[in-house]
Amino acid sequence: MIPAAFEYVKASSVAQVIALLNQHGEDAKVIAGGHSLLPAMKLRLSQPAVLIDIAAVSELKGIKTNGGTLTIGAGETYHAIATSNTVKNACPVIAACTGQIGDIQVRNAGTIGGALAHADPAADLTAVFLALGGTVTVQNAGGTRTIAADDMFVSMLMTALDSGELITAVNVPVLSKGQGASYAKLKHPASRYAIVGVAAVVTVSNGVVSACRVAVTGAGPQAVRQPSVEKALIGTSGDAAAIKAACASAGADMEYLGDIHASEEYRRAMVKVYAARALTDAIAAARA
Ligand SMILES: Cc1cc2nc3c(=O)[nH]c(=O)nc-3n(C[C@H](O)[C@H](O)[C@H](O)COP(=O)(O)OP(=O)(O)OC[C@H]3O[C@@H](n4cnc5c(N)ncnc54)[C@H](O)[C@@H]3O)c2cc1C
Repeated sequence: MIPAAFEYVKASSVAQVIALLNQHGEDAKVIAGGHSLLPAMKLRLSQPAVLIDIAAVSELKGIKTNGGTLTIGAGETYHAIATSNTVKNACPVIAACTGQIGDIQVRNAGTIGGALAHADPAADLTAVFLALGGTVTVQNAGGTRTIAADDMFVSMLMTALDSGELITAVNVPVLSKGQGASYAKLKHPASRYAIVGVAAVVTVSNGVVSACRVAVTGAGPQAVRQPSVEKALIGTSGDAAAIKAACASAGADMEYLGDIHASEEYRRAMVKVYAARALTDAIAAARA
């Protein structure tokens, strides 16, 4: 499996990437870790004439907190994120999630920007980003804009990114006392992609669940929130009975995918199971 011929440019700045994207339009693609794009190119599902390598762009690196926000450069690898003390302290669910993506080769190359831009139906970070209610910072020829997680995932492999746009950073809230988050996944035993993955972020105030966001990946074409579960849990004590009652509607109003790994019915059943696991752990973390 050999990709079609392409011109290769190793970029050194965001400005250069944007200029090249602008110059070549639909013929150009950026490559970060290459763990999704290269397989697609080898299968000739993607045939960019110009490949812009962003791995050495230092402006896309960096992990920092500023007030209530954790900002991770789009070019940071899963390994760097999973082992970052800043991430572990500010938003441990991101470190836990990136630590269970693929294997060490995938984690050493794959990037947070690539994961969110690619929006694979079985990606892990999409659900965590959605449950956290993060934003991506995007650069284009006209300047900078932000896209909220709720607007990001449009359909299978489709995001709100326009052609010529580059994700430069991913922003998520720093979790504070009374907040807890968890990601629970049924993983494919070889690739570790999510067959079903559920992320939950919960706030407990005075013993009552006052805020809750739940998102599912792996089961359908794109990561989606679970508003009926969120609504059912808010105002309860978040005990086992409340979680069970809330999860009765998990996965009710979403589209499913079935394949050789798991049928639609199986995924439908697993969404309820993994939603309950994620919520149980998130509520325990919020109470800790
Ligand atoms: C064996 C294997 C196992 C895997 N297991 C898992 C798993 O368990 N869980 C999981 O979630 N994923 C898994 N993956 C996918 C992996 O996480 C990829 O790294 C990820 O999907 C894409 O990130 P990347 O940096 O490699 O992007 P690339 O492959 O380089 O790019 C993917 C797409 O995103 C675009 N892009 C990249 N960066 C940017 C940017 N900054 N702005 C705009 N567009 C951009 C590219 O143009 C391309 O269209 C696995 C992959 C492999 C090969």
